[in-house]
Amino acid sequence: MKHTLTLIPGDGIGPEITSVTIDVIKHTGVEIDWEIQEAGVTALEKFHDPLPQSVIDSIAKNKVALKGPLTTPIGKGFRSVNVALRKEFELYVNQRPAKTFKGIKSLYFDNIDLLIFRENLEEFYSGIEHYIDSSRSAAETIGIITRKGSERIIRYAFEYAKKFNRKKLVLVHKANILKYTGGLFLDIGKEVARDFPEVEFSDKIVDNMAMQMVMNPYQFDVIVTTNLFGDILSDLASGLVGGLGLAPGANIGDGIGIFEAVHGSAPDIAGQNIANPAAQILASVMMLEYIGETEAAKKIEKAVANVIEKGESVTRDINKENFVGTKEMGHAIIKELENLS
Ligand code: NAD
Repeated sequence: MKHTLTLIPGDGIGPEITSVTIDVIKHTGVEIDWEIQEAGVTALEKFHDPLPQSVIDSIAKNKVALKGPLTTPIGKGFRSVNVALRKEFELYVNQRPAKTFKGIKSLYFDNIDLLIFRENLEEFYSGIEHYIDSSRSAAETIGIITRKGSERIIRYAFEYAKKFNRKKLVLVHKANILKYTGGLFLDIGKEVARDFPEVEFSDKIVDNMAMQMVMNPYQFDVIVTTNLFGDILSDLASGLVGGLGLAPGANIGDGIGIFEAVHGSAPDIAGQNIANPAAQILASVMMLEYIGETEAAKKIEKAVANVIEKGESVTRDINKENFVGTKEMGHAIIKELENLS
């Protein structure tokens, strides 16, 4: 079956890592017609709009998109296109696995297998903020947590844990200080947990969680948390398994999914053929699973794992002494794929 999917190459390192990803997918034999759409700074420069309507129309039609990272100006300029896309399609789940690949030498821990579910729409990403007066003497951000928004992400995480036989789920919050927003999220977690007696439930305050994840990550399995904490803890989790170059993510709503790396557009290394394409490729693995191309997904994951384990054709973030470029790592993954067929 031929699929028609949306591809957003993205900003910064986006075009380099997405073009490698498309090449890798092509070599599995899965047939995809890619509708290429520009967003972010690239679209702003070309069309004077960081999120043209054509991008929204294409995703609405195809229901699945592979997205490169998009730049968001810091402290000024247009609001995040990533956040806008999540809102537009009500992508309330942000699923971010962090799994160790064999062969990475710089790690403190082996065999990490963490899965973070981050609420993707509410709280401090609502974009409701302003200066309280024209002299900018103070600023206010409003973080809204709703029963509906909390329940659906927590229930999704529990259902996933049950389906894939994951034993433990920890809900991360700051309900000691954020008594209403954090308190509501925690209370709903306790309520939902009653429907899943097979999954061991606990909760942790976020600052303690950050320390515990660094000291002993093995005590955790599935993690569910609010938007900002999920954003931060998923970067922390990626650090436990070798960095952002290895961390994929999926934004999922009802019947629609946008798949991307956890990392951003990395302007410091853009255009130099040094970015690690693995996170983007692993996001495409999540996408292929989502569209039912399970065999191809498994093969790509195995090919990436083999290349990392051999350690000869990886980018410099993985092996500082002996490294290749983005494209060359892609070629090595394709070669592994061919050996697997
Ligand atoms: P970043 O994730 O782009 O980069 C952080 C560090 O990790 C940098 O040193 C970078 O070189 C390195 N890095 C990132 N990806 C890498 C890869 N594939 N291979 C090797 N090294 C890699 O974070 P940032 O610098 O804080 O943000 C840059 C821009 O990206 C900002 O505009 C930000 O808003 C945006 N951003 C977008 C997304 C997204 O599109 N989902 C996510 C995060 C940040």
